[in-house]
Amino acid sequence: MPFAFDNSYARLPEAFSARIEPTPVSAPVMIRLNRELAADLGIDVARLDSPEGLNILSGNRIADGSEPLAMAYSGHQFGGFSPQLGDGRAILLGEVVGIDGLRRDVHLKGSGPTPFSRRGDGRSALGPVLREYIVSEAMAALGVPTTRALAAVASGEQVIREGRVPGGVFTRIARSHIRVGTFEWFAARQDHANLRLLADHVIARHYPEAREAANSYRALLDGVIQRQAELVAHWMQLGFIHGVMNTDNMTVSGETIDYGPCAFLDNYHPKKKFSSIDQQGRYAFANQGPIAHWNLTRFAETLLPLLNSDSDKAIPEAEAALDAFSNLHQSALQRRFTAKIGIDAADDSDWNLVKTLLAAMAEGEADFTLVFRQLANALESGNDATVIRLFNETDAIIAWLREWRARLPQAARPAAIALMRRTNSIFIPRNHRIEEVIQAGNGGDYEPFHRLNEVLQHPFEEQGEFAEYEAAPEPDEVVCATFCGT
Ligand code: AMP
Ligand code: MG
Repeated sequence: MPFAFDNSYARLPEAFSARIEPTPVSAPVMIRLNRELAADLGIDVARLDSPEGLNILSGNRIADGSEPLAMAYSGHQFGGFSPQLGDGRAILLGEVVGIDGLRRDVHLKGSGPTPFSRRGDGRSALGPVLREYIVSEAMAALGVPTTRALAAVASGEQVIREGRVPGGVFTRIARSHIRVGTFEWFAARQDHANLRLLADHVIARHYPEAREAANSYRALLDGVIQRQAELVAHWMQLGFIHGVMNTDNMTVSGETIDYGPCAFLDNYHPKKKFSSIDQQGRYAFANQGPIAHWNLTRFAETLLPLLNSDSDKAIPEAEAALDAFSNLHQSALQRRFTAKIGIDAADDSDWNLVKTLLAAMAEGEADFTLVFRQLANALESGNDATVIRLFNETDAIIAWLREWRARLPQAARPAAIALMRRTNSIFIPRNHRIEEVIQAGNGGDYEPFHRLNEVLQHPFEEQGEFAEYEAAPEPDEVVCATFCGT
């Protein structure tokens, strides 16, 4: 058997999930199998890369040891509570323990209806499958905690979205698919016994050190807050906008999940948002920290009955944990952004330097990734022209470059250049490139998909043969809006 499944979630009580098998598809074709990841997961790669493997990864066959189920969860979507969400087009096949000893979920997306699908068809269009594959693997290569892509399969069927489009099945790997919304599911039902079981499961799986703490549930809350504060700062370092930070799309493991209408910044602007459904900019670039805090507040609320049986004591406990978020997130942002300008042990004046640069970028409509990457080259060559020409308004950046050089004495420059080059990626999954991949994929041409995936394996390295992938979009290539497309 390709997978040595050991299914801890399936062993939890019935209230956690609905048993459901994937619905077969008519003519599956493997588009890409992530052999390296499969090997890391201790999967028999040869068995997986076979007709049997394709059948498993398209939902046409149940692998030995698999106990397929749809997970129950609720969630706050754009601020409003939906008590009944759950895996409506996804199925957890089971869990494997990788060669690193860590347990991970193997999960199909687009595998057919479940008891949680209400309006949808349980399927996925191919476009979002290709997008999630590209972006999640890029995020992994960029060093960001994230779910991973094991496989993308074309289903051979069409799905009806805006018109008929090809369908796909995506195999996702995650440390777990437990979300803030999973806790909300039990909290909303006042099911404290199962809430405790869930918290204990999460502690065992993701925060084993919390078991040693005086109050394990407080330690769990602290741990989730710490990881999210760091995660969102890491996104911002790379110009990433998640796009739909609903509480059902926030893991408790600290991994990025659910790459729907996500996007990377081209031109920097703090209010930038791409998602067509985010009318108010709730999930705009610079709002991601405050929104993470808002989501974590919802998480803390679910834990109140576990934090202390006396609610007068539980609330201050939760508040104290939440109060730590802003400092954690702010110091992660400062560390990451001062590194982007080559400064390691930074102080407040260095953070001001970052803010001045970002303001100049917003005003000058400068490309986020290119500006930061060119800074190291400018420092090395002594020539600022390649930076300055990225700005439509140049006065502010010229003044800034002068101030920045003054901050970095000659002796500090080699280390600064090295720091910048490992902090500022050259390659990101630019929105127009993803669009190109999806257009081609919908026509049955997966070459652009494979090529983009290759480039993004090494996002911090110069790759001369792929230089065109560094470029910002031409005016007619700019993607203004992204869609969930589910
Ligand atoms: P998402 O937008 O991916 O965060 O999904 C939000 C909710 O909608 C989840 O409960 C999904 O399972 C459900 N959902 C999204 N697309 C579909 C679909 N095509 N069929 C059934 N349920 C869906
Ligand atoms: Mg989701």
